[in-house]
Amino acid sequence: MLIFSKKAALQAHLDTYIKAGKGIGFVPTMGALHSGHLSLMQQSLEQNGVTVVSIFVNPTQFNNPDDLKKYPRTLEADAEKISGLNKDIIIFAPEVDEMYDGNTVSSHYDFDGLENQMEGAHRPGHFDGVGTIVKKLFEIVRPTNAYFGEKDFQQLQIVKKLVEKNHMGINVVGCPITREDNGLAMSSRNARLSDAERNEAALIYKILQGARKRFDFESIAEVKSFVESAFEAHPAFKPEYFEIAAEDTLEPATLKENRKYRAFIAIFLGNVRLIDNISLN
Ligand code: AMP
Repeated sequence: MLIFSKKAALQAHLDTYIKAGKGIGFVPTMGALHSGHLSLMQQSLEQNGVTVVSIFVNPTQFNNPDDLKKYPRTLEADAEKISGLNKDIIIFAPEVDEMYDGNTVSSHYDFDGLENQMEGAHRPGHFDGVGTIVKKLFEIVRPTNAYFGEKDFQQLQIVKKLVEKNHMGINVVGCPITREDNGLAMSSRNARLSDAERNEAALIYKILQGARKRFDFESIAEVKSFVESAFEAHPAFKPEYFEIAAEDTLEPATLKENRKYRAFIAIFLGNVRLIDNISLN
C-alpha cells in the first residue's frame, strides 16, 4: 500500500487519477484509528474511484499543549488497520514542517458565527486550526468527496462553510457516529480512559438518549435541567457545556421552532475531555 509523507509526491500521484476523471474520496484523520474512522473510509471506498486518508496530528488546533503532547501517535498500527480494510487506500502522513513550512500558525477564519459556539467558545483558536489544516489538505488532495464524522458535528458544519465560502466545489459528506457496544462514542481519546471509566462513560449516551425522549414533550429549559441534574448525581463527571442548538446555525435554542435540533455535550471524566451529540427531532 502507498504511504506518502511529501505533498509534492502525493499530488503528482493523484494527478493521474484527476486526469483520468476518477473522483477522489478523502478522509482526514489525526490517526489512532478506530472503527469510527474506518466507517468513513468504507463509505469513501463505495463512492469514489480512489480513497486518500490523511494521518496528521495538527498542532494548531490544540488549545491545550498537554492534550497535544498526550495525543496518541500510532502510525504503524494505523497503516495496518487501513490495509486490512483495503490495500488500495492511499495514506498521506506528513511531518509538521511539511504542512507548515516551519511556520506553525493558523490563519483566521470567519465561519459566519459557527466558530463562536460550543467547542469554539471553550477551545480558543481551535477552529482556526481546523480551517487552516483542512484547507491545506483539500488543496493538496483535491477531493470530489470529503468525509467527516457527525461525532464532531460543529467541525462538520464548519468544513461545509469553509468549502462554501472558498468556492472549493467539494462535496462534504457527514457520517453517523460509531459507538462502542455500551453507547460510548468512539474516540482516539478513549484510549486514555481506564476500563472502569470506559464503563462509566456509557452514561453520557444514556443521558443524551434521555434528553431526546424528553425533547418531544418537555421545554428546552426542562431538558437542560434534566441533563444537569443527571450528571450532578455522578460527581466523576464534570460537564463543560450542554447545549441544545439548531443544526444549521448552532446557536443555542431557547424555544422550539420548526427546524432541526441537536443536543451537544462536552464533559470531563477524570482528566479526559469527551464530546458527544444526538439528533433531537
Ligand atoms: P479525528 O482523528 O478525531 O480528527 O477524526 C477524524 C474524522 O473521524 C473526523 O471527521 C471525526 O468526526 C471522525 N470520527 C471520529 N470519531 C468518530 C466516531 N465515533 N464516529 C464517526 N466518525 C468519527
